[in-house]
Amino acid sequence: MATIAVTGSASGIGAAVRQRLAAGGARVVGVDLRNADVEADLGTVEGRRAAVAGVLRLAGSSLDGLVACAGLGPHVTDRGAIVGVNYFGAVATLEGLHDALAAGRGAAVAVSSNSATIPGSDNDIAAACLDGDEADARRRATELEGQSAYGGSKLALARWVRRHAPAWAKDGVRLNAIAPGAVHTPLLQGGLEHPVLGDAIRMFPIPSGGFGTPEQIASAIAFLLSPDAAFVYGSVLFADGGTDALLRADTF
Ligand code: NAD
Repeated sequence: MATIAVTGSASGIGAAVRQRLAAGGARVVGVDLRNADVEADLGTVEGRRAAVAGVLRLAGSSLDGLVACAGLGPHVTDRGAIVGVNYFGAVATLEGLHDALAAGRGAAVAVSSNSATIPGSDNDIAAACLDGDEADARRRATELEGQSAYGGSKLALARWVRRHAPAWAKDGVRLNAIAPGAVHTPLLQGGLEHPVLGDAIRMFPIPSGGFGTPEQIASAIAFLLSPDAAFVYGSVLFADGGTDALLRADTF
């Protein structure tokens, strides 16, 4: 039986991934603030350590898969926490579980977003994230609006995956990212209820005709984790109803 760790497993996309993998016979070790096998705060250094230690305690020294899904939306008022969880929490989880994934010749999927490619996301926050300077990234995030913090953190996470996938491949681990578009979850609902972000989200063009479902993203993640994706390394898979293709047809 495959053992797969999923952060953000208590809600939305993470919960759908958990259900999907468990239905397929996997043993899932869920990580979240509460209602999870491992309860830890990925926004703090101690919480990240506790999350990694908790997964290893339950899974042993070998993992078949990891989905770094926990995240905060652009509507969250603590903008430092957006980069703290979305980038530094995800990267700490991936790095902390690298050796267990290598032992299991496993696969890892980081949940980015198609917000990573919209104008304004290639910003100083993303650069500070990739420099590994959390204090600077948090400071810059508090100076800008939530969408910049969110898009910057998600762009940095996708770039981190691209930069690390080749070395991880040599260690026997397939590392990829998924970039969902707007998906019906409590996170999206928080954005829709925001006085400024709400209209921006509603106006974002989605060629397929509407928001996605957590189950659709879970299917794409299950594919990236599966042997069907055996030759897929370092990809950023857009699962967004065609928005990225519409806005950036020639950029990939
Ligand atoms: P959600 O709010 O339903 O779930 C997010 C989960 O992350 C929650 O269970 C929450 O408790 C957990 N989490 C938040 N902060 C945490 C912390 N400090 N420590 C541990 N866990 C924490 O949201 P969702 O829409 O399912 O989002 C899942 C991922 O998908 C996020 O990374 C999000 O950025 C990404 N995403 C979502 C959408 C969308 O439209 N819903 C689009 C693109 C990307």
